[in-house]
Amino acid sequence: MQESLFPILRTTVYDRPLIYLDNAATTQKPQSVIDVLNSYYTSLNSNIHRGTHYLATAATERFEEVRRKVCAFINAADRGEVVFTRGTTESINLVASSFGERFIGEGDEVIVSAMEHHSDMVPWQMVCGRKGAKVKYIPFSDEGVLDLDAYKKLFTERTRIVAVNHVSNTLGTVNPVEEIIKIAHSHDVPVLIDGAQSVAHIAVDVQALDCDFYCFSGHKMYAPMGVGVMYGKRRWLEEMPPYQGGGEMIKDVTLEGTTYNELPFKFEAGTPSVGDVLGLGAAIDFMLSVGVETIGRHEMELHDYAVERMRDIEGMRFIGTAPHKAAVISFLIGDAHPYDVGTLLDKLGVAVRTGHHCTQPIMDRYGIPGTVRASFAVYNTRADVDAFINALNRIAPMLS
Ligand code: PMP
Repeated sequence: MQESLFPILRTTVYDRPLIYLDNAATTQKPQSVIDVLNSYYTSLNSNIHRGTHYLATAATERFEEVRRKVCAFINAADRGEVVFTRGTTESINLVASSFGERFIGEGDEVIVSAMEHHSDMVPWQMVCGRKGAKVKYIPFSDEGVLDLDAYKKLFTERTRIVAVNHVSNTLGTVNPVEEIIKIAHSHDVPVLIDGAQSVAHIAVDVQALDCDFYCFSGHKMYAPMGVGVMYGKRRWLEEMPPYQGGGEMIKDVTLEGTTYNELPFKFEAGTPSVGDVLGLGAAIDFMLSVGVETIGRHEMELHDYAVERMRDIEGMRFIGTAPHKAAVISFLIGDAHPYDVGTLLDKLGVAVRTGHHCTQPIMDRYGIPGTVRASFAVYNTRADVDAFINALNRIAPMLS
């Protein structure tokens, strides 16, 4: 499906066709996104928001058009709630730092799941360390399912925020974020959702979810690297102090002090990556042209087909077997080190990820050094899965 639109997929590695199954790390880009980058730098490059000349005005209009597009894509209530960042990591650091500055104090508590990416764990540890607050973790089962009973018991009157990923990049678990949000709201506690692994696979409606913050990266949804989004409810963003000081985020600066710009600009200090934002707009157009649900369904068909065939391989062990999963398969073969499996697969043209996937606490939970991870995107095919399985069958005997 759609593979001809992605020029990089015609690449050969070691004289073999590239089989790209590292989509949870980053997706490849369709020609339409590459074209937008090219045309931006060929005919539109200009700094935005503060110019009177033609290019500056045209670039600003295009930039703000993408904000409207993102707003509709995630169904945010208003454009002021859509803040452009460099990616999920920056989005979460922004919230942890700015929300933390205003709302987290000594003796307060933050609830984070134990299956978070380091990007949604370390910023909370940092702010809690600074403030004398405490991070409490939601445990998960052997299958990779969050323990909601344990979660409910973590709340106290000192709980200030909950942070959970929508989809785990390592286990593939799709977390019950609706329920997690409802429980937190029953305690008047806001929730941040790390959507890095979900926006490209699940249609997201931030108003229906009723999440307070939703963070994601463009590069995992067919857009360029260097752009991401921090969605936040206006009521929180109005009260939160700016994250960084600089141009764009100010209304007035005197030698005595500064008043801040309105939303979302209060959180967008400095020159943004304009071309990449326009690329994000083209990526959203691409995704909508296929349909987000169609993309997710296609990927899950490949996932189910791959898992079924992988079961026949001796020593195969899946890490993350939740009943509700996205198209991410983490596995080990016997006692083989994941790095060895990844290296051998690479030599056969198959790109997978190996290691702890920036989720070391998950590895500690299972007592393993890492996993091999295959993850699917819109352009993957059954032929890709067949090539992957053939490669696994070739290398499995070498590993035992
Ligand atoms: N959260 C999750 C669940 C992720 O998978 C990733 C990327 N692997 C991130 C956060 C961080 O995203 P980025 O590196 O694009 O900021």
